[in-house]
Amino acid sequence: MKFVCEPVWIDESCLVIDAYGWGIKGATCALAIRGSDGVVLVEAAHRKSAPYVLGELEKMGGVKWVLVTHRHTDHAGGVAPILKMMPGAKVAGHPVTLKNIADPSRINEATWRAWGEFADLMDPVEDVGGFVELRDGDTIEAGGGIKVEAVHTPGHSSDHYAYYDSERELVYLGDAGGLLSCSTGTVIPASFPSSFNFDEYARSLDKLLGYEPKVIVFAHFGTVMGSDAARIIEECAETLEEWRRLAYKLDAPALADKLKEEYLEKFTLFNANVRNLIFDMLVAGLVNATKK
Ligand SMILES: [Zn+2]
Repeated sequence: MKFVCEPVWIDESCLVIDAYGWGIKGATCALAIRGSDGVVLVEAAHRKSAPYVLGELEKMGGVKWVLVTHRHTDHAGGVAPILKMMPGAKVAGHPVTLKNIADPSRINEATWRAWGEFADLMDPVEDVGGFVELRDGDTIEAGGGIKVEAVHTPGHSSDHYAYYDSERELVYLGDAGGLLSCSTGTVIPASFPSSFNFDEYARSLDKLLGYEPKVIVFAHFGTVMGSDAARIIEECAETLEEWRRLAYKLDAPALADKLKEEYLEKFTLFNANVRNLIFDMLVAGLVNATKK
């Protein structure tokens, strides 16, 4: 498998966009697929990502659909500013995701509590008829044979959807596969509290393997390609089981030491303080999941 750690045109109608989450290059991405009726934007990213995403969308045309992977601010926060510029677009996702987009007060509060100044909070979006609730397996179309299927993949969060583009055999993973350190080819579970759940996460990865994707896009960040690309999803599942074993064996401080020792230097995107905070949160989510 090949790791592409930059924005990339998958083909002439499909672009992986750097969404500059937290203002950092290569922290989050969005995916744009052009159909004859308009663009399907998979992932809205952060509120402050909108200028980057909209700038790239100028190369693609008007947006027909915004497909949101889940309610977290770094994925759904961009809906408000994107809709402001693209008022005709429909917004689709899990019913819980859409509820949080309409009223982000709870998710904003939780994000602020967890991340403080690092948080990029969401503005509410009024549903003026453009919200479309997706069920598992629903397909949206954008003309010219473009079909994107919603794949319910809980585990990271209960409302999580990955999206499958059958024409390209492409899976946009969102956070269902975890966080990718693209330069080292390392994946770790996105085990943030409070909704992380071991069994659901494992089942979702298994479900995605069933699609036998040849292109896999991680929301945080990078694209994996090749006939054996699905191997990366197997690696997500293997690391999940390793972390599950450790979470049941070690107490929280020992678990944090162990994971930081092994992974901290592989995830160098953020400064040391933020990286420590991220791993403390991942550990809190793991410990919480052992009690479910
Ligand atoms: Zn998330």
